[in-house]
Amino acid sequence: MSEIVLEHIVKKYGDGFPAVNDVSLTIADGEFVILVGPSGSGKSTLLRMIVGLEDISDGSLSIDGKRVNDVAPRERGLSMVFQNYALYPHLTVYENIAFPLRLAKGQFSDQEIDRRVNQAAQMLELGEHLQRKPANLSGGQRQRVAMGRAIVRDAKAFLFDEPLSNLDAKLRGQMRTEISRMQRTLGTTTVYVTHDQTEAMTLGDKVAVLKRGVLQQYASPKELYDE
Ligand code: ADP
Ligand code: ADP
Repeated sequence: MSEIVLEHIVKKYGDGFPAVNDVSLTIADGEFVILVGPSGSGKSTLLRMIVGLEDISDGSLSIDGKRVNDVAPRERGLSMVFQNYALYPHLTVYENIAFPLRLAKGQFSDQEIDRRVNQAAQMLELGEHLQRKPANLSGGQRQRVAMGRAIVRDAKAFLFDEPLSNLDAKLRGQMRTEISRMQRTLGTTTVYVTHDQTEAMTLGDKVAVLKRGVLQQYASPKELYDE
């Protein structure tokens, strides 16, 4: 649970027009912020800079008052869920979810790992599928495993990059409800990229609108869409 502050963040790839251009944004502790904008507007780039997968060209990024521009991704304490899930095909659902805990060598006992994996699986209705491999799961179940892996560690924030875009409409609706419930339960600061207006309206405390790398608006869904 953390505050994320972006000050005059810029990303330049080569010498073209900046992909992200002077974005300043304060994401309060526990807040659920949606990033929207047309394709190519810089949403993924912004998310990837926050999580540390992309260098920041200019400006300052801080988490809980500490500048993290030069802090390695793993040290930032954030959890990211990708659009394509990025599951390990050779590992079971259980081991996919347990993976971040096993990575933190010795920090979690087998008993603690078991407790956390089961808790995440229960929250995401994966309890019956723990011994399956990703290939034997539906798209919605795979998406849940990716979520499980993100929440199994106590992250300072969750970052979601269009997590529902590969699901059909019915599942999207169901997952929307689950993500919302999960975020309220855990109270974890969340940044969520989407181009789906329903997701933007129903999930977020605030919506940040990007266009050609520039922040156009930052307001509650009500303020944005009730006009
Ligand atoms: P969005 O997520 O809103 O679709 P992106 O952040 O993916 O937008 O892209 C923003 C802009 O930056 C686009 O013009 C895109 O082509 C460009 N871009 C993204 N990644 C790279 C990269 N690795 N190298 C060069 N240009 C990139
Ligand atoms: P999305 O729009 O879903 O964010 P894209 O398909 O635009 O994803 O981009 C996929 C990958 O390609 C990302 O890692 C992005 O950084 C990279 N990319 C996007 N645009 C460019 C570009 N113009 N040059 C090089 N890499 C790019």
